Amino acid sequence: MEHPENSDEFKGLTVNSGVISPGSVNPYFRNHHAHRPNLSVQEYVDGIVKGNVTVLSQAVTLVESLKPEHQAIAQEVIEKCLPYAGNSVRIGISGVPGAGKSTSIDAFGLHVLKEGGKLAVLAIDPSSERTKGSILGDKTRMERLSVHPKAFIRPSPSAGSLGGVARKTRETIVLCEAAGFDKIFVETVGVGQSETAVHSMVDFFLLIQLAGTGDELQGIKRGIMEMADGIIINKADGDNAPKAELAASSFRNALHLFPPSESGWTPQVITYSGFYEYKIKEVWDMVWAYMDFVRQNGYFQYRRNEQAKYWMYESINESLRNGFYNNPEIAARLPEFEAQVLGGQQTSFAAAHKLLDLYYDRKTNSHSGGAQVGR
Ligand code: GDP
Repeated sequence: MEHPENSDEFKGLTVNSGVISPGSVNPYFRNHHAHRPNLSVQEYVDGIVKGNVTVLSQAVTLVESLKPEHQAIAQEVIEKCLPYAGNSVRIGISGVPGAGKSTSIDAFGLHVLKEGGKLAVLAIDPSSERTKGSILGDKTRMERLSVHPKAFIRPSPSAGSLGGVARKTRETIVLCEAAGFDKIFVETVGVGQSETAVHSMVDFFLLIQLAGTGDELQGIKRGIMEMADGIIINKADGDNAPKAELAASSFRNALHLFPPSESGWTPQVITYSGFYEYKIKEVWDMVWAYMDFVRQNGYFQYRRNEQAKYWMYESINESLRNGFYNNPEIAARLPEFEAQVLGGQQTSFAAAHKLLDLYYDRKTNSHSGGAQVGR
């Protein structure tokens, strides 16, 4: 049959009937297309609860997506997964680049998996905001774990503020736990703010340090040390072993000067070698001893409750902030106010108040159907 657009009405424009298009060029790619999130909320939840890692990955992609329609599904999935979550130990692992995080996590992961269960390795990488790529959680960095059938490795979410990235990682923890992962590692680089974020979502915070030139403690912020439940000095092998022991005693001395921790636990300092797998067991015996200790004295649940509260307020803060900065009128007028502050025509506080008034004014007006616009 002739195509209707071939009639005179469309003269000069001939539409051929075309050929049957071949199937997918490569079945591998076709499978990858199937990764596009198109399951129902219940299908996501069922898949996750059954421990289906493909579905879990897809759900995490939704959590990380900035699209409001993805976010809406993600939130429903998370809510439905919550009753299945919580049943894990969550361990934060931090250290500066080169401290040996990936080498250690590879070794730690294999060690904890020997006892059974499943391990998820997640990451919070504040630099990924700038580079739009993540340096942490990259599968190639953990050679043995990445091919382990009981391990799930996921790089850091890359978009948004540190708070936003951290929230996504926290939500991913819920999904992983619902999928039966009973051990969660959250990795981060030792730069300060991201430690606070990780600390707010884990049960145990492990700080990887290196032996330096005798002034180990100078470069490390007191706040980070105070967060640590355990400090482990890596690369205690070969010629470096005595230096690592020296570093350990200076950390122990420094820790004595800190006030007692809220948990009642005394942070321990252990030297080890991630690469040569020396004293890995000691490190984990410490972590498990801590877990027993805080489970018995009730601090485990207390800390989780405090974290739940913290995340409620964080979500409110984030939502308020986004509402404000994404408001088109505010976005349009911010540069003008900023210039006035810089030019000394307005104080920072006055400018902030005027912008907030403007924002709330417009919001009230839009809620009342615009009746007061132009008042
Ligand atoms: P990350 O940046 O913190 O993830 O650190 P990596 O795990 O990538 O390690 C940085 C470098 O230190 C690599 O060259 C590792 O081989 C080396 N390294 C890691 N752990 C050890 C260790 O226990 N002993 C020694 N000698 N080298 C190590």
